[in-house]
Amino acid sequence: MNKKPKMAIFKFTGCAGCQLEFLHLEDEFLDLLDLFDIRYWKMIKRDNDEKEWDISLVEGGISTPREIEEIKQIRKKTKFLVAFGDCAIGGCIPSIRNWTPQMEVEDYVYPDTSSIHSMKVTGIGEYVKVDEILKGCPPHRDTLIELFKSALLKIRPRLRKHSVCVECKFNDNECLLTSKKMACMGPVISAGCGAICPTLGRVCEGCFGPMSNPNAAALAEIFKDMGLNDKDIKRKFRKYAGMSPEFRMEAGH
Ligand code: SF4
Ligand code: SF4
Ligand code: SF4
Repeated sequence: MNKKPKMAIFKFTGCAGCQLEFLHLEDEFLDLLDLFDIRYWKMIKRDNDEKEWDISLVEGGISTPREIEEIKQIRKKTKFLVAFGDCAIGGCIPSIRNWTPQMEVEDYVYPDTSSIHSMKVTGIGEYVKVDEILKGCPPHRDTLIELFKSALLKIRPRLRKHSVCVECKFNDNECLLTSKKMACMGPVISAGCGAICPTLGRVCEGCFGPMSNPNAAALAEIFKDMGLNDKDIKRKFRKYAGMSPEFRMEAGH
């Protein structure tokens, strides 16, 4: 009898980059095939089993009435549901459109909008209970492996709650914000990427979403003192997590 946990991977409104990050596990991916029974993953499988799953990873936000019904069905059939990446957590890049009137956005993209039924983009948690979130656009491979290990051990994954600044200090980087007056989002963004961007001399844009309990108002004030105008500051907070409770005020709600 097959005792491997049954896994499913789904895609809603997003770019498929989170699923690709999963495939990029490469050597570890082959090990995972020995440990999990992947029953549903349309990106890689022709035959998919729609019965029920022990763990489902959901990529992408919810942006249509049809997607609301689909995520509710997935929830019913799943024991442990993971919001896989920033789109599934809070809408991420697709949610930038939420600040423009819906009809205007549709007219901009489609020559004929008669068959379009889109809504504001949100994370899946607006409609169903989520058991775990994997931050990142896309999540780092290490966090994926941590999730799979903890799922096998039936324990909570140990995911980082501190800011990118902590990882930046581990890398002995000179701070771009304080030394060079560059508008780095690192102080309010969740760690997990290893501070890749500041280590390469570029500001953190915020792709891992809000850290635990960030002081977004204070960072917005620092950006203002540095000479950024209100529009630029809003854009910074809207880019990856403007719908999140942590950044909503600074994003201009
Ligand atoms: S979180 Fe980023 S990488 Fe993942 S689907 Fe959304 S836009 Fe793509
Ligand atoms: S460069 Fe950015 S991430 Fe690094 S310490 Fe400064 S503010 Fe934090
Ligand atoms: S934007 Fe920030 S969180 Fe994203 S990879 Fe760069 S440093 Fe990391």
